[in-house]
Amino acid sequence: MVRYWNPQVEEMPKEELHRLQYKLLKTLVYRLYSFSPFYHDRMKEAKIHPDDIRSREDIAKLPFMYKKDLRDNYPDHIFTASQDELVRYHVSSGTTGKPTVVGYTQRDLENWTESLARALTSLGLGRGDVIQVSYGYGLFTGGLGLHYGAERIGATVIPASIGNTERQIELLIDLKATAIACTPSYLLHIGEVAEKMGVNIAKDTRLRTGILGAEPWSEKMRNRMQDWLGIRAFDIYGTSELSGPLFTECSEQKGIHVWGDFALTEIIDPATGEPVSPGERGELTMTILQKEALPMIRYRIGDITTMEEDMCTCGRSHPRITRIQGRVDDMLIIRGINVFPSQVEHALMSIPEVGRHFMIVVERKGALDDMLVRVELAKESFSDKIKDIINIRKMVEHRLQNALNVKVEVEIVEPGSLPRFEGKAKRVIDKRVM
Ligand SMILES: [Zn+2]
Repeated sequence: MVRYWNPQVEEMPKEELHRLQYKLLKTLVYRLYSFSPFYHDRMKEAKIHPDDIRSREDIAKLPFMYKKDLRDNYPDHIFTASQDELVRYHVSSGTTGKPTVVGYTQRDLENWTESLARALTSLGLGRGDVIQVSYGYGLFTGGLGLHYGAERIGATVIPASIGNTERQIELLIDLKATAIACTPSYLLHIGEVAEKMGVNIAKDTRLRTGILGAEPWSEKMRNRMQDWLGIRAFDIYGTSELSGPLFTECSEQKGIHVWGDFALTEIIDPATGEPVSPGERGELTMTILQKEALPMIRYRIGDITTMEEDMCTCGRSHPRITRIQGRVDDMLIIRGINVFPSQVEHALMSIPEVGRHFMIVVERKGALDDMLVRVELAKESFSDKIKDIINIRKMVEHRLQNALNVKVEVEIVEPGSLPRFEGKAKRVIDKRVM
């Protein structure tokens, strides 16, 4: 089996990788200063000239870029390629305001595909695998992104997209899929629907790999899914503004390798914009070093993570980011305390009596915030005896309060009664902002 897609780059010594990043950064900054009115003005405002970038670390002198910049320049005013050089658009739906448009040249698509070919190889896939891509195809980047990466490594692709879950399960069985790419919440849904159809994913299918992402999920959820479905579940990361899904964990499952020749990664304090100490958590900020149509410098993604710079046991020198722990803007402030929905999931998934689904409801009663967590019990633990339910409720409340340091009310609900999601899960209802 092929272990590396591009060994020369993936095993490059760190010092060499850092030199390459500096060279690419310098070239990018000169190009944008000369040819992009947007970046030229930004750098002038910040009183920075490309000559001021004399080391890789000097990236910190450059101004940040935000999603708002893309919206304000809708649809294509920041693009640095002309329309006849573009070969594709993707558009992300804006939950607030205008959508964002990303354009790709042929070379941009080539780099995107190369990034995923390296990633999928690193987690153990290749020729002979059958990969069911159950991310949305179309304007969303997930489906087509995975699709071309999977084809590039010689795997066979089932472009299933999302929805029609029973048919997805039939395809999975009939075409002998060995891997599936989708959101973690959709894989949960697939597992449950399969059980209802009398299909045991672990025993009745050849599925052994899950490539899961596009929403935050926890390590406990990984363990549960691996045990339940008989697969190894890998985290995948990317965001539409930076192309789409780009990076995954390797077979070691110890963080997501971010290819340093494509992206220069910084972790910063979201409040001050200063870099955090190594290993500390903060906001993920990326500079895409080799993008022709829509280059991004120090793009503030808004995801919370940590970065590991040491050599991975797989032999790859490229830095790793850990599982996304939440969004800067998902962070709930409950009575002055920061709470991430991922912390709630982590605490719940370590309680065996609890099922796989929950919902957080926050409201303001008088001057105080009230946090209610609706929790589905595991089928085995659901009981008709009110006393049992009350005991479990008290135990779950206690565990959540200990984990979050904030008062939590728990409501136990029947297995199967909370909403299921085919795309990204919406597990928070914040009535304070409605
Ligand atoms: Zn690795």
